[in-house]
Amino acid sequence: MSNYPHVKFLTSANQANRLAPDVGREVAFAGRSNSGKSTAINAITQRAGLARVSRTPGRTQLINFFEIGPGLRLVDLPGYGYAKVPESVRAHWLALMQHYFNVRESLVGLILIVDSRRGLGAQDVAMLEWVLARGRQAHVLLTKADKLNRQEGQKVLRETAAACQDAAVSAQLFSALAKRGFEEARSVMDRWLAAA
Ligand code: GDP
Repeated sequence: MSNYPHVKFLTSANQANRLAPDVGREVAFAGRSNSGKSTAINAITQRAGLARVSRTPGRTQLINFFEIGPGLRLVDLPGYGYAKVPESVRAHWLALMQHYFNVRESLVGLILIVDSRRGLGAQDVAMLEWVLARGRQAHVLLTKADKLNRQEGQKVLRETAAACQDAAVSAQLFSALAKRGFEEARSVMDRWLAAA
């Protein structure tokens, strides 16, 4: 499939009852605000502007659904971890995410976006735990890898692998800027979406 030439926006949800119909298969993207999630989605789908690169981190609390093929979706989950977000917004995010991960039958895997300079944080680990608890797969994209030299990149990759010792979790280095890791990320998505 690769490149997803027919990707199109389907719907946005800011409440549990507004999710796209739970049929077919979908891959979700999650990450801290500013981790490079929107940039990664645009790079992987080769569609500039599909996911909006945030100017106001932490403001959007929307789950955005995109169709990438018949019955196949890419889901952009709202970013987390932005310090200035009011408690009410944080609580809403938590309830929405818990609902999404608890009920979603069509979810096949989570692409977790992590800034390679920060590594996995507590909230990232919580996302992994939610998805693993449902028996789904996860793949960590260590973004902005162009900011690291080779040694630093290998180190964060090793540390991430060590932190997620679970057969259902994989990880890779990724850079939208250096156009690195696109094929590897797409092949993970294709594998998940194709499995019966
Ligand atoms: P989001 O909040 O997680 O959706 O993050 P964005 O995609 O909006 O990116 C946050 C910031 O990181 C922006 O300033 C991007 O230009 C920058 N960024 C994203 N990907 C890369 C990358 O591969 N390399 C570098 N150097 N910067 C990146």
